[in-house]
Amino acid sequence: MKRIMSGMRPTGRLHLGHYFGALTNWLEFQEKYESYFSIVDWHALTTKYQTSQEIKNNIWEIALDWLSVGIDPDKSTLYVQSAIPEIAQLHLLLSMITPQNWVEREPTLKDLVKMLAADEQEAKEKATYGLLGYPVLMTSDILAFRGELVPVGKDQESHLEFARDVARRFNSLYGVSYFPEPQPKFTTTPLLKGLDGQKMGKSASNDIKIADSEEETVKRIRQAITDRTRIAKTDPGHTDLCEVPWPLYLVFAQHIKEQVKLECESAQIGCVDCKARLAGIINEFFRPIRERRKELAKNPDRVRKLLEHGNIKAKMVAQQTLAAVQEIMGLVVWS
Ligand code: SF4
Repeated sequence: MKRIMSGMRPTGRLHLGHYFGALTNWLEFQEKYESYFSIVDWHALTTKYQTSQEIKNNIWEIALDWLSVGIDPDKSTLYVQSAIPEIAQLHLLLSMITPQNWVEREPTLKDLVKMLAADEQEAKEKATYGLLGYPVLMTSDILAFRGELVPVGKDQESHLEFARDVARRFNSLYGVSYFPEPQPKFTTTPLLKGLDGQKMGKSASNDIKIADSEEETVKRIRQAITDRTRIAKTDPGHTDLCEVPWPLYLVFAQHIKEQVKLECESAQIGCVDCKARLAGIINEFFRPIRERRKELAKNPDRVRKLLEHGNIKAKMVAQQTLAAVQEIMGLVVWS
């Protein structure tokens, strides 16, 4: 089986975008590939170092989300990045062979700096040495497990090029073919906007979380932007202009899409009722997941043990990689 590697930053509870953009793919991967899924807490630190106290709790929240949706620790290796110091050691060694200008031109890095700071002066103060090394850390996450596949969207392939370039450079510098050049495993992500019609994001508070209660879901869907041209209930709606509910219907309720379209475009239903129905469908979909999550949350020791078990499995692989890299580089491998 090919080895696939992916991770998520522990920056808060996961939302519908994560569920349909990543987790549903992971459920499929764990049946087909040797899967390594990491909670990448050091990555969260690269931008959240001023609020680092939140990271610990977010690790549990993400673990609960993963387990409740069906990411199975018997099929996948689930681990926390900071439990595997070998990744940090590999990061250091790969930093030594990575040209500085490769890091500086990395587009992801530019996006992260933009997220941190409003202008160039602020960026100088807030962007850290750790953030600059982010692409090498991401590469180490993949190469520590000699990952062959990394799930990416069609527009994100460039993120992986960096890791490929570093793997290639290592192999060429030391005359080996030790690291596989990780290949993209393309995934399709439905375009789900946030409730305000903007990009869905945890920090924008415009999302619906997997862990939200049914009441919260109803309340939040009520705020969703619909067809901005529809003023009165008697005006016919336009599903193609309906910004949030219609795309959600397409994801959650394909089987009634013709009915919704007809009712909307002939003004048989108002947006308030249409959104109430949608909230009911979403709640029904997530009910078993939310119930599992509640049960797991009552048993933090069990969740901790599952993560510790994954950490041990991941550590064994990363240790082997690190020892091999040290050998290849001609360094002393201490026992
Ligand atoms: Fe959107 Fe439903 Fe309103 Fe039509 S009736 S615009 S699909 S919310």
